[in-house]
Amino acid sequence: MIVVKIGGSQGVNLAAVCQDVAGVIGTGVHVVVVHGGSAETNDISEKLGVPPRFVTHSSGFTSRYTDRATLEIFAMVTAGKINTLLVEKLQQAGVNAFGLSGVDGRAVVARRKEAIRIVENGRVRMLRDDYTGKIVEVNQALFRLLLDAGYTPVVAPLAISLEGEALNVDADRAAAMVAGALQAEQLILLTNVPGLLSSYPDESTLIPVIPRHRVEQALALAEGRMKKKVLGACEALEMGVPRVVFADGRGANPLTRALEGAGTVIS
Ligand code: ADP
Repeated sequence: MIVVKIGGSQGVNLAAVCQDVAGVIGTGVHVVVVHGGSAETNDISEKLGVPPRFVTHSSGFTSRYTDRATLEIFAMVTAGKINTLLVEKLQQAGVNAFGLSGVDGRAVVARRKEAIRIVENGRVRMLRDDYTGKIVEVNQALFRLLLDAGYTPVVAPLAISLEGEALNVDADRAAAMVAGALQAEQLILLTNVPGLLSSYPDESTLIPVIPRHRVEQALALAEGRMKKKVLGACEALEMGVPRVVFADGRGANPLTRALEGAGTVIS
């Protein structure tokens, strides 16, 4: 069993990833696909006249400010367009892909953050209308049901709250939680860089291997959204996933290359 997260950044070769997923499934491996959609949500939000807003948490992380209108756009873009078109591409590659978001069948359950502490113009302020959450449970039985029946689940990064509300969750961390819950052998995070770079954006500074006890130090090297990937990797390792790979989703055979160890391997 492997979990593959497909990044939404420009440059990821979706056709090649889908062909590769088909090849891996052909060897008898179960695959769960998780995808993001941040970049496209930004585009569509602009077009709809609801420009994206980002907030900096007091912990230093940055995230999308997801009020109800933003949540609806996020759902439309990720669970609607991106999920459906990814399922379409996988179907064309011969994979019987089954699209869902974490809301469907309570596939991914998260605790809604009642209030988030943000820093704005140097001052701390509380936000209370944010629809984001921290994942607390993955519906293993549902994923097993689909996999055992021959379907390949393709998951959009939404979760359902304990109160039944749809929430925006980080796709890298959702992939990590799914990998942990299903006891996947590997979590592969495909993006538009060769892996974790010690001196971003210089691609010649790829860090090929990070031993698990050094992964916290790797957090210091990652900037922006890469931080969430490192955090996801930590969570997956803690949950017993033996190997996490940050790999290049551009070019040919991205998944095969990642499984062979190209990228940054954390184990
Ligand atoms: P995706 O949407 O594909 O998951 P993200 O945009 O979330 O990708 O994260 C990948 C991005 O993280 C890269 O495109 C790069 O701009 C950025 N990044 C920041 N720091 C680093 C680093 N140290 N090594 C590699 N990428 C980094």
